Amino acid sequence: MQSGQQSSHRVVAIDGPAASGKSSVTRELARRLGFAYLNSGAIYRAITWHILQKGIDVGESDRVAHAVESAQITCCLRDNELCIFIDNVDPGDYLRDDRVNESVSRVSSIPRVREIVVEKMREHAQGRDLVIEGRDIGSVVFPDTAYKFYVDASPEVRLRRRAAQGQRDEITMRDHADSSRPVSPLVVAKDACIIDTSHLTIEQVVNEIIGRLEQNGLLPSAA
Ligand code: C5P
Repeated sequence: MQSGQQSSHRVVAIDGPAASGKSSVTRELARRLGFAYLNSGAIYRAITWHILQKGIDVGESDRVAHAVESAQITCCLRDNELCIFIDNVDPGDYLRDDRVNESVSRVSSIPRVREIVVEKMREHAQGRDLVIEGRDIGSVVFPDTAYKFYVDASPEVRLRRRAAQGQRDEITMRDHADSSRPVSPLVVAKDACIIDTSHLTIEQVVNEIIGRLEQNGLLPSAA
C-alpha cells in the first residue's frame, strides 16, 4: 500500500515529542484494544545503531542512505512486541544508548531513510489492527486514519520523566531537530486530538483516548 490508506484494518496514530508519555500510553492502549503495537522511534534508533556500528559518520547523508538501502530490515512481532532485526542482528539492548540518543535525529532527518522506514511501517500495518507511535504518523505515514492523537507534556515534566528513567537524553535538542527538519517534521496533524499528559497518569490518558475512540466510532460506546 503506497499512500498510507488503510483497508479493513484500523490504525490509531499517537504522535508527540520525546518523553511526552507516548510509549507507555501506546503500549497500554494497544493492550486494552487488543491491537498490535509499533514504536516507530525504535526503528529509527535501530537504524542509527547500525550506522554507528558500521563507523559511518551520521553527517554523511549519502553514505547513511546507501547503508540503510543495503541493510535487511525486518520488523516482526514476538508476544505482540515489536522486534527489529538489521542484517539478522537484534539491537534491542542498545536502542537507548547515549550515542544513539545523540545521533538519531540526524539519521532520521535524511529523506531517503524516512522513505524506507515509512514503507516498512506501512508493510507492517498490512492486515492487522495497530497502535503506532512516532512523530509523523498522523501527518505523513497514515494521514487517512480517523484516529489521531497528539500527546504532549510541559518541558519541565518531560525533562523530569527522562531524568527519572536515569537517561542522559538531550530531549530539548532532539525536539528542536525533529520539529525543524524540512522533511516530515514533528507537527500536530490538523485533525489530531491533543492531550496534555503533564498532570495525568497513564491510565487516565488511555481512558481519555478510549473515550474519544468510542465517540468517533472505532469502539462501541461503553454507555
Ligand atoms: O520516539 P523516540 O524518542 O524513541 O524517537 C527517537 C527519534 O526517532 C526521534 O527523536 C526522531 O528523531 C525519530 N523519529 C522520527 N519519526 C518518527 C519516530 C521517531 O523522526 N515517526
